[in-house]
Amino acid sequence: MSPFNLETCARPNILALEPYRCARDDYKDDGTNVLLDANENAYGPPLPPSITGLIQPQSGLGPVIDLPGLNRYPDPHQVPLKQLLCNLRQTHVHTQKKLSPANLFVGVGSDEAIDALIRAFCRPGQDKILVCPPTYGMYSVSAQVNDVSLVKIPLLPGPDFQLDVPSILSALSSPDASTIKLAYFCSPGNPTGSLLSKSSIGSILAHPTWNGVVVVDEAYIDFAPDSASLAEWVVEFPNLVVMQTLSKAFGLAGIRLGAAFTSPEIARLLNALKAPYNVNNITSAIAEYALSPAGLEVMRANKAALLEQRDRLLREMPTIPGVGKLMGGTESNFLLYEMLNKDGQPDNAVALAVYEGLAETKGVVVRFRGKEHGCLGCLRITVGTEDEVTRFLEAIKKQLEQVRGVDARSDEEEKEKAASAVVA
Ligand SMILES: *Cc1c(COP(=O)(O)O)cnc(C)c1O
Repeated sequence: MSPFNLETCARPNILALEPYRCARDDYKDDGTNVLLDANENAYGPPLPPSITGLIQPQSGLGPVIDLPGLNRYPDPHQVPLKQLLCNLRQTHVHTQKKLSPANLFVGVGSDEAIDALIRAFCRPGQDKILVCPPTYGMYSVSAQVNDVSLVKIPLLPGPDFQLDVPSILSALSSPDASTIKLAYFCSPGNPTGSLLSKSSIGSILAHPTWNGVVVVDEAYIDFAPDSASLAEWVVEFPNLVVMQTLSKAFGLAGIRLGAAFTSPEIARLLNALKAPYNVNNITSAIAEYALSPAGLEVMRANKAALLEQRDRLLREMPTIPGVGKLMGGTESNFLLYEMLNKDGQPDNAVALAVYEGLAETKGVVVRFRGKEHGCLGCLRITVGTEDEVTRFLEAIKKQLEQVRGVDARSDEEEKEKAASAVVA
């Protein structure tokens, strides 16, 4: 049983915050009230005529976005949106207990949740977070912004990229473990594409002495097998946060909507420290549509099309000379592949030359990840549409021929570039 105690783990100044309340919490707006409480402009916004069509009910689906209603402040609580997120993740596979909107924080992408957690728990200049490289870059960016340092426990080597549970447990038992407030795990991992095992997360949640919070970032969970999400586990464990986003499988990176499932107590802290109107009216309207039955149907169809292209890449990449092992898993909308030199070894100079050549001469942009821990010579390739994948496959085949033809190993300039490449 974890000794987790929110009162001693979170920062006292954050624990003391009162959740934001507005006059509309006391006097529900049924649409008939005269709203003179929030200094809004009752005459409404200037709107370009070409988009006013969006306010019309669309083919029986009801108004998608209330554009004239943009003169009003957004709902600071977003309960209907939170309920839809609960409905999506309540599978009863991991627990019989019920998720409710009180278990949720919603924000400007999951990047807001990543940062809000650090601000809620970590004292600048004193506390730390634990991360497992190779992993998502925003954990360390947010830590640095907040003057919080990192404890790094690398993942086990690829292509499995699972958690090194014994090393994590021992780091969380070390003399200064009381300053490690949060442990960020990415599942499925970026850039690894590997789903972390439920038992490894479970054993960290059950650490016998560590008073801290386990954060599982499930940005890619919809590309993993059904019911893989641990979101509903937050009703079983008081020290768990599961982050999700509409940026990936839902195709809504542009609206900036992320969510954190957690205990009502931690959710209350995150909701108290956020800017009151962090989720805007346009974002919540589109998000609610995306999470409706009609929206989910579109998401699942698009996901199926992506998974088909992912399978095609898995079939075709190994047939291209110079493409090495698939490093990592397939539970995501990207794949991590090694680029090989003429000796058949993964090679950062080759990977970097392929990356640059693809972008500069073929108009195909992928991501060089060769400087990440355990990712020597790797490119991360996002799965695109059928036409995009066709174009990518042709381009990388030619590019590898070209690069390996001139033998990147002897090219000192490329080596230097690889050595100094910015890791982001
Ligand atoms: C893309 C991504 C996110 C998404 O961040 P948003 O702010 O929600 O767009 C979060 N975590 C990981 C690991 C990601 O790759």
